[in-house]
Amino acid sequence: MIETALADAVARYERRNPNSAARAERAERVLPGGNTRSILHFDPFPLAFARGEGPYLTSLDGDRYTDFLGEFTAGLYGHSEPKILDAIGNALDRGLSFGGHNELEHELAELLCARFEAMELVRFTNSGTEANLMALALALHHTGRREILVFRGAYHGGVLAFGSGEPSPVTVPHAWVLGDYDDVEATRALIREHELAAILVEPVLGSGGCIPASDAFLAMLREEATAAGTLLVFDEVMTSRLPRRAVTPDLMTVGKYLAGGMSFGAFGGSAKLMGRYDPKRPGALFHAGTFNNNVVSLSAGIAGLRDVLTDERLAALNARGDRLRDALNRAGDGLLHTSGSGSLMTIHPGPRAYNASEPPDPRRELVKRLVFFELLDAGQWIAARGMLALSLPITDALCDEFANAFAAIVARHRDVLA
Ligand code: PMP
Repeated sequence: MIETALADAVARYERRNPNSAARAERAERVLPGGNTRSILHFDPFPLAFARGEGPYLTSLDGDRYTDFLGEFTAGLYGHSEPKILDAIGNALDRGLSFGGHNELEHELAELLCARFEAMELVRFTNSGTEANLMALALALHHTGRREILVFRGAYHGGVLAFGSGEPSPVTVPHAWVLGDYDDVEATRALIREHELAAILVEPVLGSGGCIPASDAFLAMLREEATAAGTLLVFDEVMTSRLPRRAVTPDLMTVGKYLAGGMSFGAFGGSAKLMGRYDPKRPGALFHAGTFNNNVVSLSAGIAGLRDVLTDERLAALNARGDRLRDALNRAGDGLLHTSGSGSLMTIHPGPRAYNASEPPDPRRELVKRLVFFELLDAGQWIAARGMLALSLPITDALCDEFANAFAAIVARHRDVLA
């Protein structure tokens, strides 16, 4: 019975992690549910870490895990890339919080604009959420329209969440129109039916299940958006590490690893669109943020893009991800499916990728938990919802270890997975 197998795996987890349990109990007295970042919670209590080094994390109970989560893509450089740590140290040596401009802002902006064709001009934020909020605000002002098309299952930030298929209760109250991801004809009809200011879409549905959009879907969005005078906004907060798609959006948002692992977000587009934020212009849109130009994020971001993340290293990382996904699908043998693109992937209970907005299935939830706790027992850290994002220090040998651990779990539990 799957319930018995899961109870056994959870009991092993509880025995192994008394310090994480104690942390959760103490934190609960001052943080709701002991938590300040909902996605990190899982029952009976979440694992907590004391330190990270290269591709490894050490738990509060002193166990080492290989970090296959890569901080939900923000940890692309791993935990201790020397060039990133030096850049942070150098920034700290020059002092914090100038309350004025510095010489790092334009340098990071130059690197981003050179890297992403959609960005002629760019602005920084503190998070991907904020980048999306500001890009949407720009689209509304530019078009004079209010409706925004988003897709069921998508996550664009804490206040821009559609995972259940509906705007979450804390999602900002824009005039949302909900479409089905990668459904070409139904989405075309929706775009023609509405007067849309913007279409906000991820080229790969990330949190919603690592499901890549087809070329035909993205091409249709481009064609219809142009015809309708609607701005096409690509949320590339997760996908900016992947090879560029054929379609260029009007606005693009990024974040995560692009500040070397420090807090960050950015949105950019043509000079014409982004020029609305030019403070020299009468009636310019205002975009503030105390930490938008904080020297720690800027300095780490510059070091990462300039000195670490060559095109070759990024291509190798994504190729490694493709190989790992193939290995997991061979081992999963139709009982577990691994979807994704390049270095991003999600393990799904069952024979295919499931969009997060599909009706929940209690049995699939049990399987997901069983695989997660068994991977933890094997020293492999992934997101409780099944997501992996490879970081640069993850080697082929570590991928082999992960794939072997995964294959052993499938073999051991084959009867309850089927
Ligand atoms: N967009 C996407 C596609 C994301 O995956 C995320 C974060 N998981 C965000 C936006 C929000 O970014 P942040 O957590 O930095 O606000």
